[in-house]
Amino acid sequence: MNSSDIKKLDAQSVMQTYARFDAVIDHGEGATLYGPEGKEYIDFTSGIGVNCIGYGNKKWADAIYEQALKLQHISNLYYSEPYARLARTLTGRTGMRSVFFSNSGAEANEGMIKLARKYSYDKYGGGRSTVLTLVQSFHGRTVTTLAATGQDSFHKYFFPFTEGFEYIPANDAAALESAATDKVCAVMVELVQGEGGVLPLESRYVRDVEKLCRERDILMLVDEVQTGVGRTGALFAFMQYGINPDVVSFAKGIAGGLPMGGFMANEKCSGVLGAGDHATTFGGNPVSAAAAVEVLSQLTAELLGEVVKKGEYIRNAVAGWNLPGVGAVRGRGLMLGLPVSAAPKEIAAACVEKGLLILTAGADALRMLPPLNITYDEIDKGLAILRGVLA
Ligand code: PLP
Repeated sequence: MNSSDIKKLDAQSVMQTYARFDAVIDHGEGATLYGPEGKEYIDFTSGIGVNCIGYGNKKWADAIYEQALKLQHISNLYYSEPYARLARTLTGRTGMRSVFFSNSGAEANEGMIKLARKYSYDKYGGGRSTVLTLVQSFHGRTVTTLAATGQDSFHKYFFPFTEGFEYIPANDAAALESAATDKVCAVMVELVQGEGGVLPLESRYVRDVEKLCRERDILMLVDEVQTGVGRTGALFAFMQYGINPDVVSFAKGIAGGLPMGGFMANEKCSGVLGAGDHATTFGGNPVSAAAAVEVLSQLTAELLGEVVKKGEYIRNAVAGWNLPGVGAVRGRGLMLGLPVSAAPKEIAAACVEKGLLILTAGADALRMLPPLNITYDEIDKGLAILRGVLA
């Protein structure tokens, strides 16, 4: 099928919940994508932070193929190797104690919230179920994670939302201190707010959150759905911030493009959810788990170091442009935001036309989440297109 046939077919039968850009993608190699007619696109999106080891990754594809031939699914009523190996790799590399696997980021966060409420209920009984989240946060699209999301624009149509969420301004320790009453069981944060605009939290504030949580036996939940799996230049961003959260959620990049999410708990929280408290049919699916084991084996210390260097490279290149209406790059590693005065969506659409896929974040920024193994040559090509469009 050619691009126009595919777009027509989509318009006929797909629920139109996505305002798609005018690009049909057929296949990819490295961080470069191709349309059905061969049009080339440099990818600064990774499918919204998912395809962390790029396209056409042979070892990753082999791991999937071999596992699919062996066993594609067996339910969580039985043991299987990829699930257990993946959990062990994650706990071994992060110092967390145990892992639950889900299928998406929103689901991972739902589970994390359930864990926090049960921890508090087991220890203190009812009435301590409030979760504090940050203004401008994003935690997912289910009814509960929309409620957790600290942006008014997400709180419409779908009433009633799950109760028990309060929003506090980011980087404001005094606001946290007064909101953390005896009704609160958890504080949930993204260390770099992604959808909200690529806004990193201040290190000092993050340490204050951790300290206050410890003092009041409130759980510190970190949503690493977007920041996790190497995106910021460490396996998880909490490791860069030097904190020890109670529970950390992840998704997006973990299986390199297959659906998977989950959350990891520390020693204190590892036994909170027992048999029957939480479950999902597909969670920890052997094929996704085998893919994730391969992803983690490719995210070596060397590659993570490169993520930091490439992030700096992009930051410096953009700073050298001195273009009017373009701010300084913010973010960490290869999770970068670029404030722009013109409409980000229109800039992104113009980039697509010229052969660059790029994201937006919040109302005023472009967002770059390229595959973590993007080459300097691909970065240069992408930046040249971006510069041309911004100029
Ligand atoms: N949390 C964060 C920080 C995210 O960035 C996202 C998605 O963008 C989610 C949760 C929701 O993840 P999913 O779309 O996999 O449900």
